[in-house]
Amino acid sequence: MINSIRGFNDILPPETYIWQHIEKEARQIFETYGFSEIRVPIVEKTGLFSRSIGETTDIVEKEMYTFADRHGESITLRPEGTAPVVRAYIEHKLYGSDHIAKLYYLGPMFRYERPQKGRFRQFYQIGAEVFGIDDPKADAETLEMLVSLFQKLGLEGISLQINSLGCKDCRPLYKEKLLTFLQDKKSQLCQDCQRRFEINPLRTLDCKSQGCIEITSHAPSILDAVCDGCKTHFKKVQEYLTLSQVDFSLNPKMVRGLDYYIRTTFEITALGLGSQNAVAAGGRYDGLVKSLYGPDVPGFGFAIGVERLVMLLKDSVQRSAFSVQPLVFMITLGEKAEKAAMPMIKTLRSQGIKLERDYGNKSIKLQMKRADKLGAKLALILGDDELASHNITIKNMEGGEQEKVSLDKVEERLRILLSNP
Ligand code: ATP
Ligand code: MG
Repeated sequence: MINSIRGFNDILPPETYIWQHIEKEARQIFETYGFSEIRVPIVEKTGLFSRSIGETTDIVEKEMYTFADRHGESITLRPEGTAPVVRAYIEHKLYGSDHIAKLYYLGPMFRYERPQKGRFRQFYQIGAEVFGIDDPKADAETLEMLVSLFQKLGLEGISLQINSLGCKDCRPLYKEKLLTFLQDKKSQLCQDCQRRFEINPLRTLDCKSQGCIEITSHAPSILDAVCDGCKTHFKKVQEYLTLSQVDFSLNPKMVRGLDYYIRTTFEITALGLGSQNAVAAGGRYDGLVKSLYGPDVPGFGFAIGVERLVMLLKDSVQRSAFSVQPLVFMITLGEKAEKAAMPMIKTLRSQGIKLERDYGNKSIKLQMKRADKLGAKLALILGDDELASHNITIKNMEGGEQEKVSLDKVEERLRILLSNP
């Protein structure tokens, strides 16, 4: 047997219905906020990610699927969606006159991480990006949209944490402050934090190792250190969130694993996910478009981890919410009936009725059994009697009642029966 690769999952029915449900709700809500879908490639030039995400981040240092293609060019399976969307925004000049563009995407991402609960090597994200608005209203409104989606999906026990990471002017000053604070404690930090100490000390704040958590619990807060412009921006984000009735809390230690974020960053965590409890994250990335050789356009975005969302919804969402179409099963008895049924099956399907059939001229008992197994709501039975009288039998698979209907009335009758709960 050839198995799938570690960390790469098959998503099987009926779980795929939850996926479709999530995707449908996301598309619907994003469209109402003025976002349009963009589809970008799964593979990009490696430099796109190392340049944007940052050379000293976990993603670029150890998690990327990077290969040489047949001509020796270094290519990478996308570990996240923002960089490819920014590349496309620049490449196709999607900025128009005001630079504003609102785009969303859905699709797989790839990271070479240790597979565990809620952490895979291929995983899906639904993300959105707003270009061209540096106003804090864009931050707050995009967060409002994200939280609305989670509410619409019936997600419970979620919490939104926000932070400000400052900007290119004030963050270096905070970095110095933090370095001074950590200087005499450097040897007690974990190996990763020691290694990237000078280049990226902020990562220490976000480190999950117990020692680093204790050491940084007394570190100076970034929220006290950011400049007035960043302070005002962050205050406004909070004010607008409150106005739009989005609950949040402040987490000055939240740093995020991608270097391009400035000012507002956030994470949404959920109860019931264990240690991989972040279900969505993102923030502001003014400067990223320019650093990828585009115009100086601000941006704000987020990504939702779909597997984690599915885990959360699996038990709580009613199957009926997925609007799975009820199934009709066509039972035919004998070759003559089977042939007579073929045009009818085609017609009913073309009318949008979900219909499954037998393919092997099996006994009525076996066909019933399969109809039952598939969860059919109705069975159509066509045998010699029915053929002779131009009728068909409709059987309700739940209650067991049967009725005979004239062949030209089948569709009409099915519609009535299928629309009754
Ligand atoms: P984490 O802290 O869980 O490693 P992250 O900071 O690396 O997350 P982002 O890059 O911000 O995550 O991605 C946004 C979301 O994508 C995460 O909140 C999470 O729900 C999901 N995600 C990230 N990595 C994985 C993975 N390897 N497997 C499944 N979902 C993931
Ligand atoms: Mg990660």
